[in-house]
Amino acid sequence: MYVRVMRFSDQVILVTGGTRGIGRAIVEKLLAEGARVAFTYRGSKELADSLIQQAPDRLLAFQADVTDSSRTEAVIAEVLKAWQKIDGLVNNAGITQDNLLLRMSEAQWDTVITTNLKGPFLYSKAVLKPMLAQRRGSIVNITSIVGLQGNPGQANYAAAKAGLIAFTKSLAKEVGSRNIRVNAIAPGFIRTDMTADLPAEEWKKRIALGRLGEPQEIATLCAFLLSDEASYITGQVLVVDGGML
Ligand code: NDP
Repeated sequence: MYVRVMRFSDQVILVTGGTRGIGRAIVEKLLAEGARVAFTYRGSKELADSLIQQAPDRLLAFQADVTDSSRTEAVIAEVLKAWQKIDGLVNNAGITQDNLLLRMSEAQWDTVITTNLKGPFLYSKAVLKPMLAQRRGSIVNITSIVGLQGNPGQANYAAAKAGLIAFTKSLAKEVGSRNIRVNAIAPGFIRTDMTADLPAEEWKKRIALGRLGEPQEIATLCAFLLSDEASYITGQVLVVDGGML
């Protein structure tokens, strides 16, 4: 499906939440372009194993909940042990636990904020050490248009994704002088498990292109932002939503 341009043949990229949906498409895209890719997941061991089969010599899988700070350093250490460097990080793992605010439990708030915002904090902090030593790196955070425009029933998710945008811009300013770029992608509605229950009448009238996006359409931009072709782009939020916003 992808044209084989080997933009990443000497590179090591870490993707959180690589077993399904957008994360899996990103892993497959980077793999097709020659990268060595480490990915994390929370519970889908079978999906992780099936993905590994695609290129056992260029893939590493880690069962590691992004909210578990004790696992983060171990994952980074394992990747460095195997491949000695980390050129790129994609903070993709994310969840929704929707409810109107009056009905939203503290647990729903905490789980979504911790997964979608603290997770990227932990992984970004952990990869900075090797990236600073290399004086080179690219971090891509997967946020959402919900973080830009809000959405009823998703105050927790919107707050986390808006926080991730502010995090992206701040970190870009902190590490730009060390040749480390930090950008965010804000997808609209993409066809994954996360949107499987979304009724068609809900999204059809809101999307100019009249269809859901495909995970590969996010992966294409993610690969560009990770690559040297995006060498003068940092601190940006790029919207990929079929004309929804
Ligand atoms: P999916 O639900 O299809 O996949 C989520 C992935 O993240 C899985 O690999 C899952 O692992 C992993 N994951 C979830 N929680 C954790 C955790 N605590 N620790 C480690 N890994 C975890 O999601 P999408 O592909 O739809 O979404 C990916 C990202 O894109 C998310 O950040 C989401 O918010 C964002 N996004 C999605 C949109 C959409 O329309 N789909 C729109 C805008 C943004 P496992 O398989 O083990 O559960």
